[in-house]
This record gives sequence, C-alpha cells and structure tokens, in this order.
Amino acid sequence: MNATTAAQAADIVAALLFIFSLAGLSQHRTARAGVAYGIGGMALALVATVVVAGRGISAGAVTLIVIATLIGGAVGQWRARKVEMTQMPELIAVLHSLVGLAAVLVGWNSYFGVEAHGAAQTEVAHDLLRIHHAEVFIGIFIGAVTFTGSIIAFLKLSARIKSRPLTLPGKNILNLGALAAFVALTIWFTLSPGLGLMIAVTVLALALGWHLVASIGGGDMPVVVSMLNSYSGWAAAAAGFLLNNNLLIVTGALVGSSGAYLSFIMCKAMNRSFFSVIAGGFGVEAVAGGDTEQGEHHEISAEDSAELLASATSVIITPGYGMAVAQAQHPVAELTRVLRERGVDVRFGVHPVAGRLPGHMNVLLAEARVPYDVVLEMDEINDDFGDTTVVLVIGANDTVNPAATDDPSSPIAGMPVLRVWEAENVIVFKRSMASGYAGVQNPLFFRENTSMLFGDAKQSVEGILRALGPADSGSAAPRSGSRPAEQPAHA
Ligand code: NDP
Repeated sequence: MNATTAAQAADIVAALLFIFSLAGLSQHRTARAGVAYGIGGMALALVATVVVAGRGISAGAVTLIVIATLIGGAVGQWRARKVEMTQMPELIAVLHSLVGLAAVLVGWNSYFGVEAHGAAQTEVAHDLLRIHHAEVFIGIFIGAVTFTGSIIAFLKLSARIKSRPLTLPGKNILNLGALAAFVALTIWFTLSPGLGLMIAVTVLALALGWHLVASIGGGDMPVVVSMLNSYSGWAAAAAGFLLNNNLLIVTGALVGSSGAYLSFIMCKAMNRSFFSVIAGGFGVEAVAGGDTEQGEHHEISAEDSAELLASATSVIITPGYGMAVAQAQHPVAELTRVLRERGVDVRFGVHPVAGRLPGHMNVLLAEARVPYDVVLEMDEINDDFGDTTVVLVIGANDTVNPAATDDPSSPIAGMPVLRVWEAENVIVFKRSMASGYAGVQNPLFFRENTSMLFGDAKQSVEGILRALGPADSGSAAPRSGSRPAEQPAHA
C-alpha cells in the first residue's frame, strides 16, 4: 500500500471517528468518549494530510507545516485550559472566525494559483475551470460572512459591544440586496474572473457578515452562535473542494449540517422562524423594553428564605447564567439534597437557552452530581409551576421573563419562558436589579409573590444552608469559612 492509499484509508477512518464523536457528544454519559473520538479523528486527519502534502515538497516546507501544527496545538491547549465555562461561547465564536478566515485565504490562494494565471496556464482541466471559478467565489463569500459575523458575535457575547440589535434603515433590503449582488458577481466571475471581482465579493461578504449579526438582538444570540457554527462548516467544506481534500469536505458537511439542525431545534425552542434567523432579521422591529422601573420590589433574607423552604412541599429550581458565574452549582446540589431529605419534592426546570451555550445548565448540574431524574426540560415542567410552593430562580433572568408572553413589543416577545410566576412564592437570586443578557427589564421582579434575595448566588445559597441547619443525617452542616449572604446596595 503506497502513502496516498494509506492516507485515503486514514481519511475514511477519521471521517468515521468524527461521526462517532458527534454521536457520543449527544448524551452526557457518552460525551467524554465523543471528545476522545474527535481528538483521535483529528490527529489521524492531520497526519494523513501532512503525508499527502509532504510528497513533492521540500523537507523545509514539511518542517514548517509541523512547526505551524505544534504552535497551533499549543495555543489551543493553552486557551482550552484557561477558558472559564462562562466564556466558552466567546471562544467558540473566535474559533468560528478562524475557520471563516482560513476559507477566505484558501480561496484567494486558489485564485492566485489558477485564475490569476489565465486559462491557458493552469493545471485545472479546461471543462472544470468554470466550476473552479464558482468554488473560489462561493468559498470566499461563505468564509468572509462567517469571519466578520463570528467576530461581532464574540464582541457581543463578551459584552465588549452592546447586545442590542443594530437597526439600519431598510436593513432587510440591505441584506437581500447583498445576496442579489453576490449572485450577480458570481455569474460575472464565472464568465470572466478578475481581481476587481475578487475584492468586491470579499468586501461585500465581510460587510454582510457584520450586518447580519449586528442586527440581531441579545436574546436571539444562541441561535446566531449555532448558525455561525453551521456556516463555519460550509466554509470548511468549500475550502475542501478547493484543496481537493475529501476529508475536509466530509467534516465541513458534518459540522454544517449538524449546526444547521441545532439552529433549527433552537429556533423551535425559541419560537423563531428559521428563515428570519438566516436573514438576520428578527428581534429588530420590536421596541427595546428599556430599564424603566415597574413598581416596588420586595426583598427577602437568606434566613426567611430558609424558613419558607423548610415549610414547602414542592420546590422548583430554575438555574440561569448567574449560577454559572457564581459557580453556585455545588451548594445548589447540597440544598437539593438537604431539602429532599426533609421530604420536600425538589426538581429543576432547565430552559433550552439558559446560560450561554446549549446544555450549559445540564453540564453544571451533572458536574455537581444532581440526580438526572429531577432535572427536567422546560416543556416537561412548565405546567407544574401552579402547584409549586416555592420557585428558586438562581441567576436566571431572560428565561423567566413574563414580558416574553405578556408584552408583544418586547424584544423577547414570543420566546417561550419558564412560567415561574404561577407558583405560590418566587425567590430571585441576583446581585442587583440589572437586566439579563437581552437587556430588557423583567416585570417578574415586581410581582406580589416575588421576593429578591440580593447577593452572589453561591453565598446566598450557602446562607440558606446555614440557616436550615444540619439535615436529619447531620451531613448538611455549614461549610467552614463560608460567609453570610451579602445584601449589597443595588441599582
Ligand atoms: P440572563 O443572562 O438573562 O441573566 C443572568 C442573571 O444572572 C443576570 O440578570 C445577573 O443579574 C445574574 N447574575 C450574574 N452573576 C451573578 C452572581 N454571581 N450571582 C447571582 N446572580 C448573578 O440569564 P438566563 O440564563 O436567564 O438567560 C440566558 C440569556 O443568554 C438569554 O437571553 C439567551 O438568549 C442568551 N444566550 C444564551 C445562549 C445559549 O446558548 N444558552 C448563547 C448566547 C446567549 P445581576 O447582575 O443583577 O446579578
């Protein structure tokens, strides 16, 4: 078996490993194995690609490839070790931008290798030249949209720019006009390729990517992140065609289609139209709800919360992004255990976009060893709030906002939310009256049956645990060194 045949065989094995990886990642129990399959597939793919690319090029060039791979691997290791769970979506957005940039560079490189030399002097068969022109153009377009779109997503997710939607006049016309211009330029380039058209499509796609994501509001960002994930897959597949790399085509198609399916599922969960997401259109006509006060809010202490919980028969905990920031999952798991030992029925209601990435809350609760059977999806638990004594809203905000159902002018109007306000009592754990990620005020905080427990969520839960005292088993004693819940001044 020669090196090329061996590399082709390795490509098939790597593609299978990627499919196993996706299958493994779809469940908590098999997720680690899924990651291992992915790492194995990528290592195999890298070796096979270097072996094939290494034929016919100098030893110096191969050394450069190996050095670049080692540097890339080291940077990846360093970032992955350093990143906080709450920063994961930002990191993913940055990584998507790199895939987009790579596709743009591959397209330009391919242009200089083929089109720039004129039809007579290329190695591409004459009949296939037009297809090559189209591949270059489409690859650059998808890559550039992914590049700037992902950078804007990164800036929004990391709060470096405001998450509110940009509303340029006639924004839908601008997007549709850009798409029409792309189609026209592609036809032109296929008939008569030229440098001016290359520059035009690159600038057009960079601007479109920026505008598509900038015009989407904060509450809808989860769908945008998964949509960019899909775009980055298609950008990689386009690069695979140009590089004649079958594995890149297969991998890109896997990422592209699984990302598109995830976007579709998230659109359904958030009651958004899939088409309007792709068109970067929703959340814009709505008037931003603003931060206007809606009346008086009531405060509660950790001790009074403990008293309420001790006399409750049923409790639902709805965690959100703040639980991740506070790293409160371990005391929350402990509170669950203590209450269940006292005979209280405790369950969790997890919103599909709670936190900052799909499955964020499930991962944290699994890490804290909360039993799977008490962790329910929004649809499974939403009808039970009316029969619940106390709901603990731990660091959630947008996902429990009644404005989504009551106020058609709200930027999050139509998004399904956990109907926590139907419970007898609601205790909201947060540090201030600040709005959530979507930047809209939450009328829940001003309802008669809602009380605010201000402070860092971890310290507040620990305060409740202390006030509850040891559980019957005696093992719920307070942790040493923990301080009472803070009651800071709040906006
Ligand atoms: P939100 O982002 O709406 O709100 C989180 C709340 O947590 C804030 O109001 C904040 O209030 C509070 N908080 C922050 N730190 C702490 C702390 N240490 N202790 C206590 N409270 C704290 O959270 P949700 O989970 O309800 O909603 C997720 C939002 O993120 C949605 O808008 C969703 O669309 C968006 N999103 C989701 C993604 C996903 O895939 N899941 C991806 C991208 C965006 P305060 O500052 O007053 O403490």
